[in-house]
Amino acid sequence: MKDKVYGGIETGGTKFVCAIGTAPDNLIKTQFATTSPDESIGKANDFFKGYSRLKHLTAIGIASFGPLDLDKNSPTYGYITTTPKDSWSNINIVEKIRSQLIVPVVIDTDVNGASLGERVWGAARGLDTFIYLTVGTGFGGGGMVNGGLMHGLLHPEMGHIRIPHDWQKDPYRGCCPFHGDCLEGLASGKAMELRWGQSPEKLPIDHPAWELEANYLALAINNFICTISPQRIIVGGGLMKNPGLIPAVRRKVELNLNGYIHLEAITNDIDRYIVAPALGGLAGVIGALELAKRN
Ligand code: ZN
Repeated sequence: MKDKVYGGIETGGTKFVCAIGTAPDNLIKTQFATTSPDESIGKANDFFKGYSRLKHLTAIGIASFGPLDLDKNSPTYGYITTTPKDSWSNINIVEKIRSQLIVPVVIDTDVNGASLGERVWGAARGLDTFIYLTVGTGFGGGGMVNGGLMHGLLHPEMGHIRIPHDWQKDPYRGCCPFHGDCLEGLASGKAMELRWGQSPEKLPIDHPAWELEANYLALAINNFICTISPQRIIVGGGLMKNPGLIPAVRRKVELNLNGYIHLEAITNDIDRYIVAPALGGLAGVIGALELAKRN
């Protein structure tokens, strides 16, 4: 029915983005800093309550940082579980919203949400198997395989794969509280900040930090190409604002693969194979709206 209106929430390490609407060109949007669960979720509920006093919301979708329990048969379905983010462990985010707004609430990971947004409106239109990576404060990855969002035992935790770490070139030990030098521990914005003593936005674009970052991203993407065989790789998140980073990653991915995957998409068309999100920073919240439509 054309009158249905949906709510979407993207929860991130630094900000919450909330939107009401049906499509990228039909959105009412707000955003605020991620603080405590009660404060942040309370602000999101207030935003939706303001609207639903005037008009009915059909459902709300959440695209959230994780790990999340997405097993509908589990007693902790809809919980954020073992996150390294202080105070957000074991939070039942679905119930904290459903109990206040009395509408169906659907949840998936932030990156699966963004993947769905890009599939419907952006850079993954027409594709059945692709991945979406986000490189910001943390490092996440999700996507679709054969037209379905990636779920399994849990959901992909691509930020926590292990990649080669040359301790001589990069003596930084990594910042993941679970693994130290996993991908997130070495290549997230937080890792860059701790390694270089300043936030990535302040690092000049020719600083050696970016060469190292491109190496780590290319190693990770190499692994994802060889395990998932994606038709496209979308890379978003705050760090990708450095305009030289994606081109450097493309070159290094080609070098890493060394001609092994001898397909046009990689050998001749890598600029259209590893791309920025077409929806930019809105991919997550638009994906959350699309999750709501699927409730
Ligand atoms: Zn880790």
